[in-house]
Amino acid sequence: MEIYFLGTNAGIPTLQRNVTSVALRLLEERRSFWMFDCGEGTQHQILRSPLRLGKLEKLFITHLHGDHLFGLPGLLSSRGYQGGTAPLTVYGPPGLRAYLDISLSVSQSRVPYKLEVVEHTGGLIFEDESFKVESDLLDHRIDSYGYRVTEKDRPGSLDAQRLKAYGLKPGPLYGVLKSGLDVTTEEGITIAAADVLSEPKRGRIVTVLGDTRPCGNSTALAREADLLIHEATFGHELAKMAWDYHHSTTVQAAEIAKEANARQLVLTHFSSRYGSMDELLPLLEEARSVFPGTLLAEEFRLYPVERKTGN
Ligand SMILES: [Zn+2]
Ligand SMILES: [Zn+2]
Repeated sequence: MEIYFLGTNAGIPTLQRNVTSVALRLLEERRSFWMFDCGEGTQHQILRSPLRLGKLEKLFITHLHGDHLFGLPGLLSSRGYQGGTAPLTVYGPPGLRAYLDISLSVSQSRVPYKLEVVEHTGGLIFEDESFKVESDLLDHRIDSYGYRVTEKDRPGSLDAQRLKAYGLKPGPLYGVLKSGLDVTTEEGITIAAADVLSEPKRGRIVTVLGDTRPCGNSTALAREADLLIHEATFGHELAKMAWDYHHSTTVQAAEIAKEANARQLVLTHFSSRYGSMDELLPLLEEARSVFPGTLLAEEFRLYPVERKTGN
C-alpha cells in the first residue's frame, strides 16, 4: 500500500506541479489502484508514472472545483484505449453524474467498460471483505468531502509445526483455532489458539481530505490514521487569506494531525505562489514544529503506508 502523488498544486497547474490528484496503490492488496481527485492533465501524469490506467478500480472525487475534476472525462475515455476493460466506479458529491453525462455525451465519447457513478453525501460509501471507505463533509466554499479508507485486519496464520507437535491433523478444528478459539482434541489435549496462531495482520487507515478550512470532521476522519493527506494551500502567515478562501495553512493541517493522533501527515495542494520545492521547505518546518511526522507531497514519489506492529 503506497501513496503516489500525481498533482500537488492548488487552483492552477504550474511547470513544477500539476493540479490535484492522488493515487493509492493497492497492488498487493487488490492488484489495482484507487485515485482521489482528477485535476486537468492527470492522465498525462499517469503516463509518466508506473501506474497503468487499466488497473484503476475506484476514483473518489472530493468536490466539484475544476482543479480536482477537469481531468476526469479525458481520463475516463482514455482508459478504454489503455487496457481498461474491468469495471470502474467513480464516487463524488451530487452534480458529478450530470457533469460526466454532459461531458461524455456532447463529445460522443465511448466508454467501453462498465462505468458506475455513485453520488453521495457522506457516510459509509464502500465496503467489502478487505476494505471500507467512509466519507464526511468538510468546510469549503462548495461541498467538499474527506475520505477515510480502512483496511480490515486479517486473521493470523496457523503454525503448522506446532500443530504437528500437538498431533492435530488438518480438519474442522483448524478452522476453530483460526477464528481465535481454543480447542480440545479427541485425546483430551487443550490447544490454546494463542499458542498456534500468529498475530493478526493489522489493517491500515489512510485519510485523504478535500479542500477545507480546519474542522471537526477532518479530525474525526483522520482519527488514528496511519497516513493523513491534508491540504496546506498557504503558509501560516497567510492564515487570514486561508480562512477567506476556505482553505488551510500548514500549521492548521498539522494541528488536525496532532488532534487526530495520526501517525504521519503529508501536506499537499500548495498555492502556486510557492514555486520550487525549496520554497516549500519553510512551510514544512512550521508544520513540523506542531507535528513532527510531517512530509511534503512531491509528485512522482512513492510514500509507503507502513503497517503498525504490536499494540
Ligand atoms: Zn483545490
Ligand atoms: Zn476547492
